[in-house]
Amino acid sequence: MSDAITVLNAGSSSIKFSVFAVEDGELRMVFSGQAEGIFTRPRFLAKDQAGMVVEEKQWAEGEHLGHDGALDHLVGFLKEHTNDYKPIAIGHRVVHGGLEFTHPQRLNAAIVDRLEALVPLAPLHQPHNLSPIRLLFERVPDLPQVACFDTAFHAGQPELAQLFAIPQEITDSGVRRYGFHGLSYEYIASVLPQYDPEAAAGRTVVLHLGNGASMCAMKASHSVASTMGFTAVEGLPMGTRCGALDPGVVLYLIDQRGMDVRGVERLIYKESGLLGLSGISSDMRVLQESDDPRAAFAIDYYVYRISRELGSLAAALGGLDSIVFTAGIGENSDSVRERVCGHAAWLGVELDPQANAGGGPRISASGSNVAVWAIPTNEELMIARHTLNLVTGG
Ligand code: ADP
Repeated sequence: MSDAITVLNAGSSSIKFSVFAVEDGELRMVFSGQAEGIFTRPRFLAKDQAGMVVEEKQWAEGEHLGHDGALDHLVGFLKEHTNDYKPIAIGHRVVHGGLEFTHPQRLNAAIVDRLEALVPLAPLHQPHNLSPIRLLFERVPDLPQVACFDTAFHAGQPELAQLFAIPQEITDSGVRRYGFHGLSYEYIASVLPQYDPEAAAGRTVVLHLGNGASMCAMKASHSVASTMGFTAVEGLPMGTRCGALDPGVVLYLIDQRGMDVRGVERLIYKESGLLGLSGISSDMRVLQESDDPRAAFAIDYYVYRISRELGSLAAALGGLDSIVFTAGIGENSDSVRERVCGHAAWLGVELDPQANAGGGPRISASGSNVAVWAIPTNEELMIARHTLNLVTGG
């Protein structure tokens, strides 16, 4: 019987899960799926490693499962379908580790309390990440739980990259750039040597372009700067988040437009980005298929902001040896990759159009001064690896 690790990624309206079997020290995904719409119209879907549906269930409109109900359903699913495996631990994605937690952490009630204290730094994500942990302490008290943090990979950035130009007393209270998507960047850093040892040892910018989007400058596979900041709303425009916004805009909205904090929050997190610019959709595929000029403008803006940030991160690195595209848009949209690389010709980037259209992994021309890659990310596997290492002392 193989050992198994379950990875959970709990968000505001969904819980995503993956189950990995541990075979000869290697991790192999055996199930994955999610409970979504847990406060509106819950739906549970689980697939096996071949992508075959193992369980699908839809609840009635208006039936609230909430996090606890969804988790109980998931625990029931796992008990029924993972008899061939011995559960050894659960790994959680936790968005914020603050200044204290810069490595994955085996959890106990006291540590969860300390993570709870970070909720004000990430009020939209942290509470949801933590809620399954407490419930699982009750349901499966003997099963070790591990938290892996989206902030941890950036903890070693130089102070110049981490601080805002504000009085020290406010910085000391925790107002600084943390950067996010760290598990994705860490995964890319872990596999890059297999693709391109020179890139892994050199100056790389990784573009994580999903619904959330950010970029990370890495020197010898260590984060030295990133576009996300104190929160995950900073930096690039995203599906529904605005990205970089003059803080004076927020003051204006409150002072002159009478908006309250929640209204501004909704605006910058849920109503902006590709959705706000286009007025059509937050989804890149929908925008690419639309012939509405607002959709085209939203994509132009997206590419323009990425290109500016690429210049900024290349400056932070003092040059550029490689670029890696990853996540939904980065892995799948050859046209976004082509346009970003076109804007980056001044940095010595030359694309191989055929390789790009084919999806890579190497998509730069042979004479390009900068190697360009499209590499799938795998945050769940990164969490499973950390969890295995912590519980087996590896
Ligand atoms: P999340 O951040 O939720 O994990 P993903 O990494 O799955 O998101 O990225 C979702 C984004 O990827 C969406 O904007 C979606 O339109 C885009 N995407 C997925 N496949 C393609 C594709 N073939 N072409 C263009 N965009 C794509």
